[in-house]
Amino acid sequence: MPTCQNCHFKWSWVTTFKRMFTFKAGIICPHCQHTQYVTTKARNRTSLIGMSPLFSLVPLSLFNPSISIKLTIEVLLFIIAILIVPLFYKLSNKEEPLF
Ligand SMILES: [Zn+2]
Repeated sequence: MPTCQNCHFKWSWVTTFKRMFTFKAGIICPHCQHTQYVTTKARNRTSLIGMSPLFSLVPLSLFNPSISIKLTIEVLLFIIAILIVPLFYKLSNKEEPLF
């Protein structure tokens, strides 16, 4: 789980999950109210995890499942991906470049 780099408070999964859905670059630590930024490495990693259900489309097509099975598997994989993304968040006191 992510740890605030200012006060070293370990964020809960729920806190991290809620803070994932903000369009602001900085996210406020619930403990010290200091602005934290997701590291470039964590941002890249979480983007990959978020897109991972799409990568399963090709191997899934090999089994020629019906569209409803394909959709169900994709939706389940997407939900799993969203649920595990908070585990890969790493925080920084400074905003890092995108790449
Ligand atoms: Zn903090």
